[in-house]
This record gives sequence, C-alpha cells and structure tokens, in this order.
Amino acid sequence: MNVEQLKTDILILGSGGAGLFAALHAFKANPDLDITVASKGLLGKCGCTRMVQGGYNVALNPGDSVERHFMDTIEGGKWLPHQELAWTLVTTAIERVRELENEIGCFFDRNPDGTLHGKAFAGQTFDRTVHKGDLTGIEIINRLMEQVWALPIHRLEEHRAVALVPSSDGAMTGVLFIDVRTGAFRFVAAKAVLLATGGGPTMYRYHTPSGDKTMDGLAMALRLGLPLRDMEMVQFHPTGLLAGPDTRMTGTVLEEGLRGSGGYLLNGAMHRFMGDYDPKLERATRDVVSRAIHAEMKAGRTTQNGGVYIKMGHLGPEKVAKQFKGMVDRCRDCGFDLAGGLVEVVPTAHYFMGGVICDVETLTERFGLFVAGEDASGMHGANRLGGNGVANSTVFGGISGDVMARWIADNPGHRVPDPNVLDAEIARVQQPFGHRPGDLNALREKLLDTMWDEVGVVRDRAGIGCGIVAIDAIESELLSTGVADDDRRFNLTWHDWLNLRSLCEVSRVIALAALKRENSRGAHFRSDFPEPGELLTSTFTVTRQSPSGIEITERPVEFTHVKPGETLLRDRIAAE
Ligand SMILES: Cc1cc2nc3c(=O)[nH]c(=O)nc-3n(C[C@H](O)[C@H](O)[C@H](O)COP(=O)(O)OP(=O)(O)OC[C@H]3O[C@@H](n4cnc5c(N)ncnc54)[C@H](O)[C@@H]3O)c2cc1C
Repeated sequence: MNVEQLKTDILILGSGGAGLFAALHAFKANPDLDITVASKGLLGKCGCTRMVQGGYNVALNPGDSVERHFMDTIEGGKWLPHQELAWTLVTTAIERVRELENEIGCFFDRNPDGTLHGKAFAGQTFDRTVHKGDLTGIEIINRLMEQVWALPIHRLEEHRAVALVPSSDGAMTGVLFIDVRTGAFRFVAAKAVLLATGGGPTMYRYHTPSGDKTMDGLAMALRLGLPLRDMEMVQFHPTGLLAGPDTRMTGTVLEEGLRGSGGYLLNGAMHRFMGDYDPKLERATRDVVSRAIHAEMKAGRTTQNGGVYIKMGHLGPEKVAKQFKGMVDRCRDCGFDLAGGLVEVVPTAHYFMGGVICDVETLTERFGLFVAGEDASGMHGANRLGGNGVANSTVFGGISGDVMARWIADNPGHRVPDPNVLDAEIARVQQPFGHRPGDLNALREKLLDTMWDEVGVVRDRAGIGCGIVAIDAIESELLSTGVADDDRRFNLTWHDWLNLRSLCEVSRVIALAALKRENSRGAHFRSDFPEPGELLTSTFTVTRQSPSGIEITERPVEFTHVKPGETLLRDRIAAE
C-alpha cells in the first residue's frame, strides 16, 4: 500500500478551540516551528466549539472569585475532579478570556458600564458565563480561524486521523490519516502530537455534538493502550429539542441560559415537576434535571413526541426573542414558538467528561503525545458545568501549545514508526472493502437505541449487561459488513463504517466503566446503587486496553485543594 509521508514539528489533531489555541500558542512560543493542524472537517467549520451557544465561565466580577468558580466546579463534579486540573482551568480562564478579546478579536456582550456581561447558568452560584448572545462559539471559532489563516500554519483539512503510531519502544512518532477527498493514506511524522479531536458522545439516540465527532480520538487512544479516566461519565443536557424522528434537529441543544433566566419545565399534564425532584428547581445541575425528565418520561407523563415542555413566555416573548435569538430562530425552523409558546424537549447526550489521563501541562504517559479539550479528562469529574467546556478547551489548548514548543526544544528529532503497527492499522481501516455490503444505518440505529436504553441517563447492572451483549453483537456484525463502492474518493459510506467502529469501541468501554462504578455520582446514576458513597474515599475509574483485554481499575481522588466537607470560600472569607 502506497502511503505518502509528510513531516512536521507539531501535529495537532482537531481544529476546535483546543486545536486552534494550541497552534496559535505554539507559533507564538517559537515561530520557527513547523506546525500542522489536521482535521476531519474544514477548519473553522467542524467540531463543537463552533456550536457553543451559552458561553464561557470565568470569574471576572469583583463579587465573584476563582475560589467560588473552583468550588462550583468541584461540587458540581461531585468531588471527582482532578483538583489541580480544575484549579488550572478556573485560574487560567481569566487570562484566556482576555486573550480572546484583546488578541484574538472576539467581542462578547457587555454591561452598560462596559464590563463583560455574565449570564446565569445552572449549577453555579454566580452569573459568570461570558457570551456573545446565544451563539458564542461562532464568535470564538471564526476569530480563531482568521488568526490561524493569517499565519504560516499548515492545514490538512478533511483528513481523518485513524491511528496514533508509536515507535517500537512506544514513543509517539506521528499519525496515520485518510485524506477523505482522495481516499489516500498519508503518514505525518511529528516530534510532538496533540490529540484534540473533542470527544462527543454521538452513540446515543438523542445527542448534540457535531456530525464529525465519533469518538475517534478516544478509540485511537484506547488502541494505543493509554489509560482513560472516568469513562462512565457521559453528560446529558436536559433540554435537547424534540422535533420528531424525521429531522436531524432532534437532539440539538436548547441552551442552559433558558433555564438560568427563569424558563420552566412542564410535563405532558402541564405540571411544573422540577419541584418534585430538587429545591433548586430548573436551576439544578444538568444531571439532576435530566434524571427528573427521564423519570417523567418513564412514568408516561410526556408530550406528544415523548418528552416534556420548556416554557419561556412568562418572561415576556419580546425579551426572550431578543435575549435568545439563535434559540428562538432554531425552534421556529422546526415549527415551535420558543418565545411565546411551548417547545418539546428531551435529555440529550452532550459532553464526555471521560478521556485520556494527562497532567496540568497536557502531557500524557506517552513520550511525545499531548492531549487537550474534550479528549482529556479530570477537569470536570462527574459533571461538567455549562460554560466550563469551552473554557477547558481554550485554556488547555493554549497550555499545550506553549508546552509542546518548549518540549521540542528539549526533545528534538523525529522518531521511527513501528512498521508493524502501521501495516496493521492500514489493514484495519480497509476491512470493509473485503465484505459484502450491508445496512450500516440499521446497525447505527441499534447502537443508538442500545446506549440510550441500557447505558443512558439511569443505569443498572442488568441493563448494562444487556448493553454490552448488544454492543458486541453490533460490532461483530459491523466487522462482516462491507461498503458497496470500492472507490475511495469521498467514500462517505466507508467513513460511516469507520465512525461506527470508533463508536462501538468507546461504547463498550463506557458500559464496562459504568458497571465498575457501584455508586451514583453526577452524570452516572445507578438505580441499583443510588447513593453517592463516601465522599472522602472517592475513586475514579481508569480503563486500559491491552492485547489481553480491557482492564478497569479504581484509584483514589486526591483532594489537593479542598476536602469534602470543607470550602475554600468560607476559608477565604474567614481569612479576610
Ligand atoms: C451544541 C453544543 C453547545 C455547547 N455549548 C457550550 C457552551 O455554551 N459552553 C461551553 O463551555 N461548552 C459548550 N459546549 C461544549 C463545547 O463545545 C466543547 O466542550 C468544546 O468546544 C470542545 O472543544 P474541542 O476543541 O475539544 O473539540 P471540538 O471543538 O469539537 O473540535 C474537535 C475537532 O477534532 C476534529 N476531529 C474529530 N475526529 C477527528 C479525526 N478522526 N481526525 C481528525 N480530526 C478529527 C473535528 O473535526 C474538530 O475539528 C457545547 C457543545 C455542543 C455540542
């Protein structure tokens, strides 16, 4: 097989907030470095950062503090976050948001006195979510894209990474790609590689992430044998649009600010049910609201399409239309009046808290491999606060750019790829060409239903067990299913096949980790183990795949800043 070889110093996989920030910081740190950004889609047009609606959490207001933002993150994450990573997130977000405005050129909404406006987001004790209306991600990603375009940074667009390729002693040597346009293989050798493909749990019936996201990054990390943390932690956003089965708009998110600003949830009997579940009502964290909706659905108290309603009209339709223009337009496109009427919603898989284990400098355990953004783990624990996702990708993307530039100075030179791995990976992705074509969409539908029904908002041992059996069956059917057309150019069926393979691999790990965690924390709720367990002895799960199988272990959470039962906030106030 002919594989074109390219060489670069820094290879960045993904052009979301993490990838683009990494490229800009690496270039700033050392403009002589050869930097390449590769992404499955078009730069600036793919990934979830562009889809960010609500905004960006940052403690800027004098009434707020990084300690308060930290405590919200730790408590929201149910004491499972890696505290050093969470601390780096909340403290560096301040620097990063200033950089976004003053260097990158973003312009966020302001208060009459000129300060940045912070909107209310659920699960937070201060209104700290900086935004550009309700389409914040477009502002961020467009400005980042312009900055990257203006610099001599190489781009490999519509290049799908299929394998992280190590040397025979395990160090990172580069990445194997399929050029989606030609179908050709390309190996890009790099001194440092950043994994920033952005997670994205699209294996659930209802989901929000962009279509290019199919967990490829974590599937590649799994095959490389990297340790993955918190893989059971899939965040469901409570309010995905429910517009019927015939539109891909079903599942897309209606942002948190709607509930934050006073939106109600009503069940099919028009009862405002959140009071039956949590005193914080609709402003409870995402996991709590999702489970409450799920319970109403299970009890059959649903709307026509099987969800619940969100109602905003009592806040004043004109005000809602002005404040949430993007959401109102989106709902109108699907025949709903968000400003004055009722819109059907359902919990929807939104974000993946699990991912590759790394340190505060984004280093993984593999020499030469770094990770940032939604592919990394630990910052959010069991629950990501709305607004902490894009803060995470931009904060740690920037850090990884700085660190990779420095790291290369100490570790110059390319390394030699293990030819056996390269050959095996090429054979692996060509698997469907040797088989008779089948119904890939039917397989995908089966996976969506399996994950939603058995490993979804509420889980138990029996259901997860059924889920694992079903995932195994779906994957084995996939492996004997081919694609009809042997022409590799823009062969989207081939890519659907590869997408499904990644989704099956990661789905199995989500299910196994969910089985391992015998308590309920944040996004992970086991009806057979509904208690959170002892907070002081909290553990996180670590998944590692090896030739002998998948091993899941538990390790203790280290409370390096604050222990359960304590608060930095009170300590700080007492000290004053
Ligand atoms: C609808 C929606 C709304 C959201 N709203 C908010 C919000 O208001 N506030 C907030 O904080 N967070 C929000 N989030 C979460 C936030 O978008 C993510 O946390 C964050 O943007 C992830 O950034 P990233 O750089 O890690 O990944 P992304 O921005 O998703 O970028 C991933 C990149 O990797 C590429 N890629 C994927 N697979 C491959 C492959 N195999 N080979 C090469 N490239 C690949 C993709 O094409 C893309 O370029 C929202 C998410 C969604 C889906």
